[in-house]
Amino acid sequence: MRSSLSTLTRWIDSKADPSKAGVASGIDWLRTIPYIGMHLGCLAVVFVGWSYVAVSVALGLYALRMFAITGFYHRYFSHRSFRTSRVVQYIFALIGASSVQRGPIWWAAHHRYHHATTDGVDDPHSPLQHGFFHAHTGWFMTREHFPIREERVRDWMKFPELRFLDRFDIVVPAILAILMLSLGAILREMAPGLGTSPGQMLVWGFCISTVALYHATFSINSLAHAWGKRRYKTPDDSRNSFWLALITFGEGWHNNHHHYPASTRQGFFWWEIDLTYYFLKTLEAFGLVWDLKPVPKERRQSNLINPVDQALPPVAHEE
Ligand SMILES: [Zn+2]
Ligand SMILES: [Zn+2]
Repeated sequence: MRSSLSTLTRWIDSKADPSKAGVASGIDWLRTIPYIGMHLGCLAVVFVGWSYVAVSVALGLYALRMFAITGFYHRYFSHRSFRTSRVVQYIFALIGASSVQRGPIWWAAHHRYHHATTDGVDDPHSPLQHGFFHAHTGWFMTREHFPIREERVRDWMKFPELRFLDRFDIVVPAILAILMLSLGAILREMAPGLGTSPGQMLVWGFCISTVALYHATFSINSLAHAWGKRRYKTPDDSRNSFWLALITFGEGWHNNHHHYPASTRQGFFWWEIDLTYYFLKTLEAFGLVWDLKPVPKERRQSNLINPVDQALPPVAHEE
């Protein structure tokens, strides 16, 4: 009973977890209930139905939050591949936190550890080492990976506003759920012709959109280390995939990324669609982000697996 109670506290305050990163093991089923509940919430679609407005809100929130995850949780907080102001940093940390993938510091710490140990025994989510299920979703359900690897993220620990997002990582998702319920109630009252309701907006805008975002994001840890083409001889098994790049706004060029993680762009050639990079270039044009790091020409042509690739044309728009 006592341990159940402390687990409930940990749903709200992640600091209530006394375990150290990388020490305890095994899936923490009680603590994982909200994550499983998000999936079960999608099934309620049979009761609430659908409407154009609910599906549009789900798609819009998928796109906005995917950008926050790839552009900021990954390319900014994990790799520092560009710079921005403290205000913009916090705005996208908040949007990223609404993705229900915990706080930016936790996310960056584990991702940096993935790069330090890629496809080795210590890699938190290598499909080669631990199988598909563990790489896709099992790893972050284990006690071992709930705490932050603080030694990897000293640079971010000094921002109290970010530490707050990590400690109380349920707050922003809870606000998003309340916003969805309120939006549904307002639309039902003000625009009954749209055919939506609070329950429908919660299921589509919060549950379905978040679960789609989950599995697109997680596919980079699982599929992009097992399925697709390799251009560069990296010491790991990372792959490039056009389809994964499409649904994850550019993250599918994962072999490129492991070859040169410092660059802002992950599509190294003009035909490698990288929506996150285009959005970041737009923010740069408005002066909201700056110092985007390019891929040096010699790095783009080095360590190629197929010598034919040596004849690759230069990139169309050099930074
Ligand atoms: Zn990887
Ligand atoms: Zn990375």
